Amino acid sequence: MFENKENSNTSIENLGEFGLIDHLTKNFKIKQKSTVKGIGDDAAVISCDAKKELIVSTDLLLEGVHFDLSYMPLKHLGYKAVVVNLSDIYAMNAQPTQITVSIAVSNRFPIEALEELYAGIEAAAKTYNVDVVGGDTTSSTTGLLISITALGAVNKGEAVYRSGANENDLLVVTGDLGAAYMGLQILEREKEVFKVNPNSQPDLEPYSYLVERQLKPEARKDILKLLEELEVKPTAMIDISDGLSSEILHICKSSNVGCNLFEDKIPLDPQVISTCEEFNLDSTTIALSGGEDYELLFTIKTEDYPKIKANPHLTVIGHMTHEKEGMHLISRAGTKIPLVARGWNALKSNG
Ligand code: ADP
Ligand code: MG
Repeated sequence: MFENKENSNTSIENLGEFGLIDHLTKNFKIKQKSTVKGIGDDAAVISCDAKKELIVSTDLLLEGVHFDLSYMPLKHLGYKAVVVNLSDIYAMNAQPTQITVSIAVSNRFPIEALEELYAGIEAAAKTYNVDVVGGDTTSSTTGLLISITALGAVNKGEAVYRSGANENDLLVVTGDLGAAYMGLQILEREKEVFKVNPNSQPDLEPYSYLVERQLKPEARKDILKLLEELEVKPTAMIDISDGLSSEILHICKSSNVGCNLFEDKIPLDPQVISTCEEFNLDSTTIALSGGEDYELLFTIKTEDYPKIKANPHLTVIGHMTHEKEGMHLISRAGTKIPLVARGWNALKSNG
């Protein structure tokens, strides 16, 4: 049988989330001809027949790590749990079709609470036109755990990977960045105020966009349609779950290219700018490392630039370079700063 090595103790922290995944999965070899893409992208790609490919992605959300029920209503949590998975399917240039939902619950939750959770799941399934086709239910001794697997479909050869970017391609992002992270800061602050004074009524109105981006994110299904209409096929694509810099590094490493990202081009909502000032935070850092934006980040050929130029949903934020040039942020002052992934990392003891 297997030798038990659990007495040796190498800390997970040293590896980080991605290092840990690489370490644990490095010996897995693809044996099935139908496995087009295994570990290492937003989703796996499996060939079904001559025309279609199946896309599979899974995510795990844990109470106390990924969500805090003191300010996250269960209905929103159900909705968000679905959305974050569908975002990975869209990031492959595919359409989601089905999901499975698995939960572990403690008896702390009454039926009504779980009904709320499922009302959120149902609402998202309706919005994104996916069927809930199964799952698993078990008890938990600690908090609530939700795991969702999303399935999708794409025409053969149409999937877009993290690995397809080329030197000189333009780097494009949808929407704006940093709002979900600032929404979390607002909710955390209100939670602390509430602890001290339970009668206080928070005025969230000035932060409405930020709070909505945190509590009710949407996946960019509209972008796939838009790109099709514009007749632009990205060369590489990823969704922004961990923060812009982390996702840029994924594309660069998978595609063997470098990148210049221009600070002054990063799209920010006015509420992000004003709230960063209030919290004395640097808005560029927040956009780079905040995460949970669920926007799409992709690269396009330079010749496609006229097709996307001036589109209100799309912003060109940089361009890809030769691998040897490395990955840099070009600051407003024109200085070149190496890009590092300081994305939210659940495995860091201070994370
Ligand atoms: P995302 O942020 O897009 O959800 P992840 O960073 O979670 O992606 O995962 C990166 C890749 O590693 C994906 O292909 C994912 O399926 C795979 N992966 C993550 N965790 C594991 C694991 N414990 N075992 C095997 N593969 C994993
Ligand atoms: Mg992803």
